[in-house]
Amino acid sequence: MNLGTIAADLQTEHRTSGPLQVSLRKKRLTALRDAIRRNEALLSDALAQDLGKSSFEAYVSEIGFILEEIAFTLEHVEEWANEIRVATPMTLFPGKSTIYPGPYGVVLVISPWNYPFQLCLSPLVGAVAAGNRVVVKPSEFVPKTSSAISALLTEVFPENEVLVVLGGVAETQLLLSQAFDYIFFTGSSAVGKIVMRAAAEHLTPVTLELGGKSPCLIEASANLALAARRCAWGKFLNAGQTCVAPDYVLVPRELQERFIEELRSAILNFYGFDPKTSPDYGRIVSEAHFDRLLKLVDSNKTSVGGSSVRADRYLAPTVMRDVVWADPVMAEEIFGPVLPVLPYDDFATALNEVASRPKPLALYLFTEREAVKREVIRRVSFGGGCVNDTVLHLANPNLPFGGVGPSGMGSYHGRKTFETFTHYKALFEQTTAVDVPLRYPPYKGKLSWLKLFLR
Ligand code: NAD
Repeated sequence: MNLGTIAADLQTEHRTSGPLQVSLRKKRLTALRDAIRRNEALLSDALAQDLGKSSFEAYVSEIGFILEEIAFTLEHVEEWANEIRVATPMTLFPGKSTIYPGPYGVVLVISPWNYPFQLCLSPLVGAVAAGNRVVVKPSEFVPKTSSAISALLTEVFPENEVLVVLGGVAETQLLLSQAFDYIFFTGSSAVGKIVMRAAAEHLTPVTLELGGKSPCLIEASANLALAARRCAWGKFLNAGQTCVAPDYVLVPRELQERFIEELRSAILNFYGFDPKTSPDYGRIVSEAHFDRLLKLVDSNKTSVGGSSVRADRYLAPTVMRDVVWADPVMAEEIFGPVLPVLPYDDFATALNEVASRPKPLALYLFTEREAVKREVIRRVSFGGGCVNDTVLHLANPNLPFGGVGPSGMGSYHGRKTFETFTHYKALFEQTTAVDVPLRYPPYKGKLSWLKLFLR
């Protein structure tokens, strides 16, 4: 297929053949599930080569995650795709009203490199379930995984249903110049703006799954050891290259020392004395990303880790202490294994600081106090998050996942993915057996009658 006309070509296909029946969508998703199972070792290997992902992480956060998403979708898609009868007001008597879920048409999915399999396949599953044709553009930074995705999808889907385009900025821009029916983008806020601008040209609706600095707030009543362990897990998973990783931690000043010691021991327990040799610790995706991260590490403030090997794209799990808002590490999303700890003197001020910054993708709160939980949820606008844990909110398909403001717009996972890729067609159906004359001119004397039915 010609890259420059891919959207129009698939749209022609979509318009002439119509959307796939739900039974065929299920067949395709079942075939996708089986192909993923058959290719599990190959996919895991590709993720290890691109990102040094352990097979455990590759399964839990990528391959198994998608198998779960497919199973959940297969279980519910018929119900989601059903037409929905809704009530009709008396004034429209005796008509009936129905909502018909239908696909947008041809969807473009652009995905990043950090969870390259999950973030490409998860929207794809919902887009296919909703009956769309899909063009997928995986990230150029993870060539092994992207070509494994391409081989997998080419094996499962005919090319008039799902197409994979491999490439970088030039290819993505060529795609973005076309009039897709929906664009689902996961990546940085900077590129999110480029995507939205291009979409505006065709009035194409978008979902933007972006990033930002996700805070982790430790309140004085928190179980400190557990907070440190769960923070360290969420931060150093995938070597910190997780959009919902805790970007920084706010901790009561008097607890900073103890908290850092707990972090140190969690890191030691997870990855041993030399994380470089741990099969469970990942690598930075590229040298350019590695160089950017090194600039954020202030050796004078480093309490844990800090060592690195450029040739191996290895950066040790690193914790910085006594960080202040003006430090360079607080100026951008870290997106790597560097955890700044900011001590605070009173919780109200710390909360104000968080609430006055750009709305984050995630927020984590560690506390034993219900009132503190309620106050934080009330005061801060954020995409989603956890209380007394990190990252796991995205593992529940019943929770919509997405950002707000600069961290994104729209959400997905589970039913929400289906809804994202569905246009709900609203239809009012009137009987031809009677024709109530009240609405027709001349109106003289009719308003008082009409008002009898209105509130
Ligand atoms: P990125 O924005 O650089 O790239 C994402 C995609 O956009 C890639 O496929 C890339 O080829 C394409 N792209 C890059 N530059 C482009 C341009 N100028 N024009 C058109 N297309 C372009 O993001 P990344 O570095 O791959 O991923 C890291 C970012 O993604 C972080 O900010 C992270 O927080 C965010 N992220 C968000 C989520 C989420 O679910 N909200 C998940 C993962 C990553």
